[in-house]
Amino acid sequence: MGIPPSQPTTRFIISLLLLAGSAILLAYLSASWLAGLCWAGGHLLSAWILPKLDRPSDTAPQRMALSPVLAALGFVCFLSLLNTLTYFDLGWRGFAHLSNLPTRAWAGLLALFAPALGAWLLGLWQIQQLQAAVPDRPKRALLLAATAVGVGLLGLLPGLVDGFLPLALSVGVFLFSLDIYLENNRTSMTWLLLWLLLFSMIMAVFAYRQSLRIDLKAHQTIAEDIARLGVPDTTRMYHLPFQWDTLSVATAQARLLPEQRATPPGQGRQWMSADRRDWVYHRADGTGYVMVGRTSGGFRPPLALMSVLFLLGLGYCLGMRALAWGLRLGHERWLLPLFGPSSLQLRIQLSFFGMALLTFFLVSWFTVYFFREQSEFLGHWLEQLVSLYVFLLLIAGALGIFLANSITEPIVQIGRKLSDTRLQNNEPLSWPRNDEIGKLVSSYNRMIAELDDSAAKLAEVERGNAWREMAKQVAHEIKNPLTPMKLQLQQLLRLEKDDPERAREWSKKVAASMIEQIDGLALIATEFSHFGRLPEANATDFDLRDLAQSAYALHSQAGENITLLLDTPTLPCPVHADKDQLLRVLNNLIRNAIQACDNRPDSRITIAINPTANQTTLSVSDNGPGIPDDVRAKIFQPNFTTKSSGMGLGLAMCRNIVAQAGGEMDFSTQLGVGTTFSVTLNSGRI
Ligand code: ADP
Repeated sequence: MGIPPSQPTTRFIISLLLLAGSAILLAYLSASWLAGLCWAGGHLLSAWILPKLDRPSDTAPQRMALSPVLAALGFVCFLSLLNTLTYFDLGWRGFAHLSNLPTRAWAGLLALFAPALGAWLLGLWQIQQLQAAVPDRPKRALLLAATAVGVGLLGLLPGLVDGFLPLALSVGVFLFSLDIYLENNRTSMTWLLLWLLLFSMIMAVFAYRQSLRIDLKAHQTIAEDIARLGVPDTTRMYHLPFQWDTLSVATAQARLLPEQRATPPGQGRQWMSADRRDWVYHRADGTGYVMVGRTSGGFRPPLALMSVLFLLGLGYCLGMRALAWGLRLGHERWLLPLFGPSSLQLRIQLSFFGMALLTFFLVSWFTVYFFREQSEFLGHWLEQLVSLYVFLLLIAGALGIFLANSITEPIVQIGRKLSDTRLQNNEPLSWPRNDEIGKLVSSYNRMIAELDDSAAKLAEVERGNAWREMAKQVAHEIKNPLTPMKLQLQQLLRLEKDDPERAREWSKKVAASMIEQIDGLALIATEFSHFGRLPEANATDFDLRDLAQSAYALHSQAGENITLLLDTPTLPCPVHADKDQLLRVLNNLIRNAIQACDNRPDSRITIAINPTANQTTLSVSDNGPGIPDDVRAKIFQPNFTTKSSGMGLGLAMCRNIVAQAGGEMDFSTQLGVGTTFSVTLNSGRI
């Protein structure tokens, strides 16, 4: 029955049909429409109406507050329903003898279980939706405690669920178990078991208390009848076994308390001793007393109830999960996200549970089949078996969890190591045995040894490449200032011919700038010959305006159509960097701008300095063609160039130098308008 998982509406309709079908079946089995309706209602509520309360993620904290309240209210609804039903339908009386429960009582139990489980699962589902916005632990604890106290107050209302303390405590336990789930942020069998156990325990205690109350009420009626008639009224259907005793006045004098002896004829009162709960009635004719009740205590009945609830819950969760899986329904509509993403650990645990459950059902089935004639024996046997079985199941669960952990732990470890694997220096794993995992571990260790080898080879190749790169860069560095120097000298020669007077004056400037550039070149050559690397940065504090001035002087005669502008503030602009390297950056940027302008008329290049509080920005703007979109991402990459004569190393080198000085380099560009490269440096001191 393959239902395409991509059709939520189809899935939803199928869910509803299944829901309606199972509700009708349950109603038919139990001959109680109420039970069927409860079951269907619980699911409808959890599967459809409540998820609609889900809001967008920006209101996550409110939803977080809503979820525990909803879950707690679901719990209270369940208890109130249980109380009401047990009150009206005496078939429910005393879970003391579960084997005596009629079918409808069983069905009703299941029916009541569903809404509570639904509301609870809703809480989980909601929490899953807002994992990202889980408030921190103290806030959550406060929220949960406040909800427990608030919902506990409902226990003060008459007839709902009795007692503030039991209700507040059980809601608290419930909510905090939810919180464990929430904090661990994972769904697991362990958590499901823990929760089911808590759920069954609390429910068993509440239901048992209720059954005691009903028993007491029934005993009162019986005691009244006996006091009045002398014997139980056989025309009435007393559906519970009871113990009764008639006390003579003399015995009563000895045994009863003075106020109980003082009860007027025809009336009675409740009498509780350490070991009995009774009703004591003074016979109407005044001849003696009647005592009807039973011994109190005995943990077997609530224990048996807890076991049944636990089994029902487990069967229910696994059954629904199997159904959803079989029909390929999404978890979201069934609100059973209990098993999370598929995991090996979970599969092992589940198989343990599956096997244990199957054994139980087979044993029960065979027993019922062979002993079906002896119904009383069968009832007792099954009752004992259920209790025992739950503990066996828990042991199987613990064993399953232990085994699953021991099998998956090394795999998890290997997985963790694999995800941390680097190119080199990986730690080898150790495993004492030469089993399947041992083989896996040794191949992992072999793999990391090979990886280490390859990494060493790769590093060698990389070093060779780096050398080549370096050589290119140095050549570029040397070539860079040569063109403007040549231009300047040509200019000087021309000027000498036309205006020898100005040429003499000009030659001083040219000489100074030449010496500076030659010094730079000499430095590169020396450093390169030393180690074949770029000069070490030698950071000093200097005025950025001097640097801009020097670059401006060098490039001011860049071309006929190019106007070079210098825009510097009047106050000093100290920066902390290597002056020579920064001059190289600036030269590079100016040269790129000149090349971008390509001698077009009205080309304008501006060198500007903008100091702010802690930083100073040096920028070179041109009104060239701008940088096309597809080129922008690549311009800082070494070897990227769009020029036939370019080497594509300039900007990459500039960025390195600026980064070394602790600054940042960026650009803004607009096609047809121009480009601005800016270098932002931390301000220095002079
Ligand atoms: P090269 O100058 O050798 O090409 P660069 O690294 O200095 O190497 O520049 C890389 C590329 O960036 C250039 O080829 C050019 O396409 C682009 N570029 C750099 N500056 C500018 C600018 N001011 N205007 C337009 N494009 C530019």
